[in-house]
Amino acid sequence: MPNQKLILDGSRVAQEIKNNLLERVKRLTEKGVTPCLATILVGDDPASATYVRMKGNACNRLGIDSRRISLDKDTSTEELISVTQQLNEDPGVHGILLQHPVPSQIDERAAFESIRKDKDVDGVTMLGFAQNAFGLASYPSCTPAAIIAILDYYQIPIEGKHAIVVGRSPILGKPVSLMLLNRNATVTICHSKTVNLDKIVNSGDIVVAAVGKPKFIQGNWIREGAVVLDAGYNAGNVGDVDYEACLEKAGAITPVPAGVGPVTIAMLLKHTVDSAKAGNNLNLM
Ligand code: NAP
Repeated sequence: MPNQKLILDGSRVAQEIKNNLLERVKRLTEKGVTPCLATILVGDDPASATYVRMKGNACNRLGIDSRRISLDKDTSTEELISVTQQLNEDPGVHGILLQHPVPSQIDERAAFESIRKDKDVDGVTMLGFAQNAFGLASYPSCTPAAIIAILDYYQIPIEGKHAIVVGRSPILGKPVSLMLLNRNATVTICHSKTVNLDKIVNSGDIVVAAVGKPKFIQGNWIREGAVVLDAGYNAGNVGDVDYEACLEKAGAITPVPAGVGPVTIAMLLKHTVDSAKAGNNLNLM
């Protein structure tokens, strides 16, 4: 673990990923392939609309096309699936992102599964999840991939460390746990029924917060010098970690904002560019 307190600057990590992508997008475009991400937003949830807009704007800044599809809040599962199927068949679209959560009348799992594997740049399908579990995913879920990218950027060792993941959602807690396991961490996964959460978190060299509750992880739960990664993003730009209190104890910590969030978006862009390259059999880097 690092000796000094280290603020894990996600904006910096994201910028490096995006700098690398700029050149790749340029080369693809010269070959006649402009990477394209299609985003689907169902309903009018303001936070979801903001996330989709941020993703579209990030695409545009890199020369990646973004196709934004907004569907009425009353859209049925069948109608949504017919949209994903059209995008699956469209050779000009390389990645499909269905913004989570969708309105309750929609079977979200069925909608995710309708995304063709080679365009599942957000790693939401069961096949993508399984490939991730085996360490074989082309496009692991973006937030888990971002967490690993931050650890790697700052050369924070994972192997042999005790990683505590608080949260077990299929898009975040579970996949990041598997990715840490695949990197030879010893992983404990916690959830809402976990007993003695504070003591378990206190045993972690690496703590990942993926709870969806503002300032949930307390400073006195953190072992001195632990690495804290806050995936949470709650109203008012607040993470799932009580940042000021955890900063006192942590050796390294991601802030919110400018922590995991920007790297998640950079990962989505990277996966879209990777998909554009793979889909066109181009022999580029
Ligand atoms: P989610 O589906 O609501 O899952 C939350 C998890 O936290 C569940 O596994 C739940 O346990 C667990 N949990 C709830 N209360 C708990 C408690 N008292 N003690 C221990 N565990 C508890 O949320 P999510 O989609 O994974 O998102 C988690 C957070 O990450 C949110 O703040 C979200 O906004 C954020 N997020 C950020 C990004 C990004 O780019 N930075 C991307 C995606 C999500 P049970 O399984 O037992 O219910």
